Amino acid sequence: MPSNLPIAHRISDAAALLTGMRTLRCPHPGCTLRIRYRAVTPDEARHLATLATDHTRHGATK
Ligand SMILES: [Zn+2]
Repeated sequence: MPSNLPIAHRISDAAALLTGMRTLRCPHPGCTLRIRYRAVTPDEARHLATLATDHTRHGATK
């Protein structure tokens, strides 16, 4: 996980929590994919989580 993100990113993440928005990040090293969503069904949330956490599903390396 890069630790050099601009502070604005962290602030917007905090704001996202307050508004009920969720952010998913890919755990793949070097992948910066982030998916944001709010007010989705549990099925959609699971689908998005699968997409976000399985690098092969969105795997454009660049
Ligand atoms: Zn990825």
